[in-house]
Amino acid sequence: MIAEQEKLLQTYFGYESFRPGQKEVINHIIHTNNTLAVMPTGGGKSLCYQIPGLSLNGTAIIISPLISLMKDQVDALQALGIPATFINSSLTTEEQRTRLRELEAQRYKFVYVAPERFESSMFVSIIRRIPIALVAFDEAHCISQWGHDFRPSYRSIVPQLKQLNNIPVYVALTATATEEVISDIQSMLDIGAEHVVNTGFERENLAFHIVKGKDRTSYIRSFLQEHTDESGIIYTATRKQADSVYEQLQKRGISVAKYHAGMSETARKQAQAAFIHDECSVMIATNAFGMGIDKSNVRYVIHYAMPMNIESYYQEAGRAGRDGEASDCILLFSPQDIQLQKFLIEQSLMDEPAKQNEYKKLQAMVNYCHTQGCLSSFILDYFNDTSLKQNCGRCSNCVERLEKTDITEEAQMILSCVKRMGERFGVGMTAKVLKGSKDKKLMDFNLHQLSTYGILSAYTEKELTERIHFLVAEQLLATEEGKFPTLKLNHQSVDVLKGKRSVTMYTAPIPTSEEADYQ
Ligand code: ADP
Repeated sequence: MIAEQEKLLQTYFGYESFRPGQKEVINHIIHTNNTLAVMPTGGGKSLCYQIPGLSLNGTAIIISPLISLMKDQVDALQALGIPATFINSSLTTEEQRTRLRELEAQRYKFVYVAPERFESSMFVSIIRRIPIALVAFDEAHCISQWGHDFRPSYRSIVPQLKQLNNIPVYVALTATATEEVISDIQSMLDIGAEHVVNTGFERENLAFHIVKGKDRTSYIRSFLQEHTDESGIIYTATRKQADSVYEQLQKRGISVAKYHAGMSETARKQAQAAFIHDECSVMIATNAFGMGIDKSNVRYVIHYAMPMNIESYYQEAGRAGRDGEASDCILLFSPQDIQLQKFLIEQSLMDEPAKQNEYKKLQAMVNYCHTQGCLSSFILDYFNDTSLKQNCGRCSNCVERLEKTDITEEAQMILSCVKRMGERFGVGMTAKVLKGSKDKKLMDFNLHQLSTYGILSAYTEKELTERIHFLVAEQLLATEEGKFPTLKLNHQSVDVLKGKRSVTMYTAPIPTSEEADYQ
């Protein structure tokens, strides 16, 4: 049977062979097994439902959270001579009606809709009456409340669909899924473990970098000077940051576009079009930009600030290099990013358990910024992907020329300070005590009376904070999750304190004269 699908791949799409995982997913779907495909960005998820959609009888309904994505997909299918359309709020009521009539007349093989479409009883009643090939959930992590982009409207349509009784098979597709999200999607859509196809997340053409302690704007300016002919995205954590980076770069005569949810739809569309068509090489944007944007030649993605969690980071950074060419993903980290993200979580409308979950994910992101291990391995470990057997050899931690220093003694001092502080405080206050700060809150808590007060006063508070974060990232010190994570000792801390284990840390490379200029 799969030979027939291979033929479709060649005749319709003009590709020689399947990419990893595609054949398996297609095979499950054509045998009407509900299937979950977890593949990296650019892995070729669309073909996984398009080929079965062509070979199964009836119309394939694809539910997608983003309107911009639908048009591109439909245009691509139509260009291949496949009858496809989308029905969404960007169309006039008249046009929507026309397309609904054609849907009812079974003129389409593929129909793309947003989850909100299921609020229309007319649409639902048509779906109920016509033969359906499959229902696919693109960006399926949006179904899960554990996903980083949960959309309640996505989840609520599942029971509605199940009542229709004429959907032969469900397909879920995502590039980011942690274990909890995978099992949530499985139970929502009745997907057996044998029908979860997870190809692993590694993107061999991406090199991850963490940059700390540099002036971000100067770093970006100098980076752009060296990459004038390349396309790239600079993600900021807030609209305000996007506006200010945009202004600063524009003032210097760099051709930049800007995209965030505070802009008018027309302005956003123009910016997006200019970037996609290479009229403008740099896009400054918040996370509102990108989902579903299929621009294959993005050579770098710079995060101006640390994002909220690793799922978002990997998805945004992963917009680089969809064409398979070597590309860079650079995260500019500054300690105040942590405060900003906490503030954003606190301000959100999530309930308390969901917020706690976000704090947990934020901590993993902070650990990523402080690990000294391979960055690709760190990300893959986070997604429980064990396919990478050795360090990537491409990320900044793998390649930078760093000097290894034994910091066992400092680590012991930090750990014993945490202990003496009653394991009741976070990173900031611990750094202040070690430094011997005159902070009022510190005095109010009588922490200046501790024997470890000022014990590492030769270091700056920033260096101490850095070392404490490093101990957490290396799991030599634990944190209690929450808005104000308190530091706690664990088994490994005890080993360090007892001298059973030494601690080494790479110290920052000596800046070259060029780098020193903008520090
Ligand atoms: P995803 O949705 O997983 O990010 P897409 O479905 O957009 O990825 O596919 C990414 C690109 O790879 C598209 O340009 C697509 O046409 C191409 N592609 C998909 N499958 C194959 C294949 N088997 N051989 C060659 N190219 C493919």
